[in-house]
Amino acid sequence: MNLAARDLQQVAPDMEQVARRYAVAVSPQLLALVDPANPHDPIARQFLPSLAELDSRPEELADPIGDAAHSPVPGIVHRHENRVLLKAVSACPVYCRFCFRRETVGPGKGNLSAEELDAAIVYIAGHPAIEEVILTGGDPFILSPRRAGALTGRLAAIAHVRLIRWHTRVPLVDPARVTDDFVAALHAPGAVTWVAIHANHPSEFSPDARRAIARLADGGVALVSQSVLLRGVNDDAGILAALMRAFLENRIKPYYLHHPDLAPGTAHFRLRLDEGLALMRQLRGRLSGLAMPAYMLDIPGGFGKVPLESGHLEKTADGWRVRDHQGRWHPYVD
Ligand code: SF4
Repeated sequence: MNLAARDLQQVAPDMEQVARRYAVAVSPQLLALVDPANPHDPIARQFLPSLAELDSRPEELADPIGDAAHSPVPGIVHRHENRVLLKAVSACPVYCRFCFRRETVGPGKGNLSAEELDAAIVYIAGHPAIEEVILTGGDPFILSPRRAGALTGRLAAIAHVRLIRWHTRVPLVDPARVTDDFVAALHAPGAVTWVAIHANHPSEFSPDARRAIARLADGGVALVSQSVLLRGVNDDAGILAALMRAFLENRIKPYYLHHPDLAPGTAHFRLRLDEGLALMRQLRGRLSGLAMPAYMLDIPGGFGKVPLESGHLEKTADGWRVRDHQGRWHPYVD
């Protein structure tokens, strides 16, 4: 039996309590994928609120990947010389219960004003080293085709911007938004478009989602994947292998598998690094090189993402240390 929107209160009795602290939204398309008879349903675990979210730990951070320390103007995160994040919107059609930006996304958290967006684009135009703009948020695929097209056009008109990358969950969680008009809005002369699609479990690939992804691929958009390793959702080599195959079958190159960030109220989703490393070893035996994602850690505090492999990771007496791209080591305790 599938669920409809009116059943949300019944399957998520803690919703009101959690919604006072964190944004909550579940699309009807996702709700229809939940199996209410399964107490371990991977869709429910990712999107239906639970009281465990109200348990914050001392090691958790409001800004776990350190966006604020690298934000010269509102909406821009400039951590690496040749690329920036542009957070044009702060809303999403659904709110993941493990979101790493849960303190800054949600209704009323403030999309960029027209003046702030202008200032962000002026910043990009004024830094010739920036070759790539990564549109994130929030989920930038909630923009209308008109606004998405205007943004693409303004960025592609900057001579040194060669690549525009959109990060989204929309094709899986709200596939009706991926219309032909929207796909056309992602293209403009002067820049190449890539889209990174976020999914964490093979059951997210509904027939409608597969059609939306095909519309992007057929529309000339290059696709890569992003997933988060989550306890109780995909902490199993068989599930991860099926997820990576689902990406490939849908013309999405598996790209990143993120170790979960230290976002507030998400301890129930986190694995230890040694558990994640063991899963990666099992995956190597099951997947081709084409299907293997890189296992990544965003070093808490804004030091950037690094692959969790030798050269960047060492065991210490009380945990781990990770080495950033500048060669600096940082302690990491899980
Ligand atoms: S889609 Fe991304 S930004 Fe939005 S709630 Fe999920 S993880 Fe957070």
